[in-house]
Amino acid sequence: MNSEPFEAILSWLFLRPYAEYLADHTKSTAPKGTPSLCPLCGGKPQVGALRPEGDGATRSLICSLCATEWEYRRIVCPACGEEDVHKLAIYTAKEFNHVRVEACDSCRSYLKTVDLTKDGHAVPVVDELATIPLDLWAAEHSYQKLRTNVLGL
Ligand SMILES: [Zn+2]
Ligand SMILES: [Zn+2]
Repeated sequence: MNSEPFEAILSWLFLRPYAEYLADHTKSTAPKGTPSLCPLCGGKPQVGALRPEGDGATRSLICSLCATEWEYRRIVCPACGEEDVHKLAIYTAKEFNHVRVEACDSCRSYLKTVDLTKDGHAVPVVDELATIPLDLWAAEHSYQKLRTNVLGL
């Protein structure tokens, strides 16, 4: 007859991690502010994109797991939330005019962003893979990629 509390404790033990997972997950899907993780699956962004809008461009991030693309503020580090423009560096190489390395000097992470205002035919995920020299350059400057791609770079 005393099995009920025992079962309750058992189910709590089993359910708690799941509930915590759900809570964490729900937090990251809440459409407030600028989620730096995928609002659908919680994955890290693989690459950023700048898409033409009006006179300027909007920045978005593309999930490394499910390829969801979501809008993201332009001047903020997706890894640590740094908003100081002096700590957020943008590097470009003339070989890859439309792909840039967006690096953060606060947490030393970087993300490549494909600028579709410069090349409307670019495909961010493909161009991210096709610009390995930028990764090598970033590694040489001791920046760490937010999320390594399928090639491990
Ligand atoms: Zn995702
Ligand atoms: Zn950062």
